[in-house]
Amino acid sequence: MTIREGLLTGRVALITGASSGIGAAAARVFCDEGAAVLLLARRERQLKELEAELTAAGHRAVAVVADVTRAEEVGRAVEVAVERFGRLDAAFNNAGFGTERTPLHLMDDALYDTIMDVNVRGVWNCLRKEIPAMLAAGGGAIVNTSSVGGLVATPVAAPYVTAKHALIGLTKAAAAEYGAQGIRVNAIAPGTTRTELVEAWFAGNPGVEEALHAASIQPRTALPEEVARAAAWLCSEQASFVTGATVPVDGGFTTL
Ligand code: NAP
Repeated sequence: MTIREGLLTGRVALITGASSGIGAAAARVFCDEGAAVLLLARRERQLKELEAELTAAGHRAVAVVADVTRAEEVGRAVEVAVERFGRLDAAFNNAGFGTERTPLHLMDDALYDTIMDVNVRGVWNCLRKEIPAMLAAGGGAIVNTSSVGGLVATPVAAPYVTAKHALIGLTKAAAAEYGAQGIRVNAIAPGTTRTELVEAWFAGNPGVEEALHAASIQPRTALPEEVARAAAWLCSEQASFVTGATVPVDGGFTTL
């Protein structure tokens, strides 16, 4: 089959959290835009099914089961991307983990640690393994998934809000350090996005979806593909002068 010229034609991209939600949508969008993709997450069945779907459609995709909190596993995934596709020039560090809606003073310390580990240490590990490969490739583009919770406080989610704010600081620091070497680093801040977990949350909490819509300029919930397209654009040369930025993909939630 012929694959059309896309935003990411010829690029090799690593996508974390590719087993579901925004990451799985990004795998499809990045492939449609011409990238070869390394799919990273912990759930093997979902990753393998996505790898099979993408390769059957004529795309280049390989799945690597890894935990972003384990630096050596992330390093192995980067090695596989380079072995299989020759280089690494884009990364969507998207794996993340939310929080039960528990007041700060009742929150379990272990849950705080897990949320910080996955959302902050996980991206730290990714940056430290991806950047050497991008330096070897002569440059690259990285997008980290923060959240509207990285820009404003969202209710009863203190560890998540803390982690997603920290991720914006880490994004700026990495952008400043590696800009001169041709690596752009940005973040996206999605608003509520229609993933399986969000669907379950809406189903269990009547009225929540409507309340969120009322707080946005665009009164609806994002589709995962809409968030993924922002990440694809930031990874592409179309965003060649964008670095250190956090792009809200939130239908105006943080504008009001
Ligand atoms: P999701 O479907 O739960 O996706 C989370 C992904 O992260 C899964 O693929 C999960 O895969 C992976 N993951 C979690 N912990 C991991 C670990 N330790 N190592 C490797 N992979 C790990 O939810 P989503 O909404 O698409 O979330 C994607 C990102 O968007 C997250 O950073 C989230 O905070 C952010 N976000 C989401 C929304 C929303 O409304 N959906 C809004 C703002 C921001 P495995 O379980 O297979 O490892």
